[in-house]
Amino acid sequence: MHILVIGGAGYIGSHVVKALMKANHKVSVFDNLSSGLESNLFAQNKFIKADILDYAALKNALLEKVDAVVHLAAKKAVGESMQKPEMYALNNISGTINILNAMAGTGVKNLVFSSSAAVYGNPQYVPIDEKHPLNPLSFYGFTKQDIENYMRWYEQLKGLRFVSLRYFNAVGYDEEGIVHGLEKNPQNLLPIMMEAILGKRPKLQIFGHDYDTKDGTCIRDYIHVTDLASAHVKALEFLHQGGDSQILNLGTEKGFSVLEMVQATQKVTGRNVPYEFAARRPGDPAIILASAKKARQILNWEPTHSQLENIISSTWNAYQKSSL
Ligand code: UDP
Repeated sequence: MHILVIGGAGYIGSHVVKALMKANHKVSVFDNLSSGLESNLFAQNKFIKADILDYAALKNALLEKVDAVVHLAAKKAVGESMQKPEMYALNNISGTINILNAMAGTGVKNLVFSSSAAVYGNPQYVPIDEKHPLNPLSFYGFTKQDIENYMRWYEQLKGLRFVSLRYFNAVGYDEEGIVHGLEKNPQNLLPIMMEAILGKRPKLQIFGHDYDTKDGTCIRDYIHVTDLASAHVKALEFLHQGGDSQILNLGTEKGFSVLEMVQATQKVTGRNVPYEFAARRPGDPAIILASAKKARQILNWEPTHSQLENIISSTWNAYQKSSL
């Protein structure tokens, strides 16, 4: 298949591109490089540097005999989305409407979309399955929920078929070291720990240690990007074979606390992670855990790279490479 990967120069997108190439698909990348990196591009692939708000550019890209689209181009900082909802509405929602319209206008039917566990909000039960009520706590999460609703309507009215992948905590780097571009201004736990080890920031602040969990710190479901990437490949193949639209959680169904992540990082890297306890971060639930049963059944997918040691060592390798 010829796949247009929108946001293919980003952290998750570049891993998806690599997995698609490995599965012998032709790939073109569409990215405005606002957070994506030129170093994440592969020379063999066509690269279109453009914004998803540019309808003509989208349409031209789709007219190159594209069979399906993977859409990962989005703003994703939860805190920022509460400060600048206009920017999130424009980029995430209007940008996606442009993609849906361009697909409808060019007859490209199949779409794999990056959604997020942020659509669920505070869990009413764990593990969270796809039937869990949606109550996003951030504007970012709302944009993902809203787009899923658009996709359902376009399915009914325009014959779109989609797989919406609700990622839990995306972590890790390509274990072969081919994709190793570091995210700009990372906000997540693993990159922050790496920066603390390397002295790029004074210390990790652990947000809250009085949660109702075994050690008082929050528990999350950390899934390796290579496992996320393989789910995209399987989702595209599923749609290509005539599968129906789906909304699927992607997680490991195992949880680790922030302190467990710190301890594992110290063990794997052999370095001290300087940290201090700080106030809770608003909107952080104590425990988030996925049920990924549906993805396992429907896509015949299994996470095989998400062992904590792999996650941490691959991240550490990428950070060490960048600090050479
Ligand atoms: N976290 C933390 N300090 C940080 C960043 C994150 O203690 O500087 C915690 C956060 O409270 C959460 C976990 O690490 O429990 C994972 O946070 P991240 O921002 O990576 O992902 P999220 O769970 O918010 O999607």
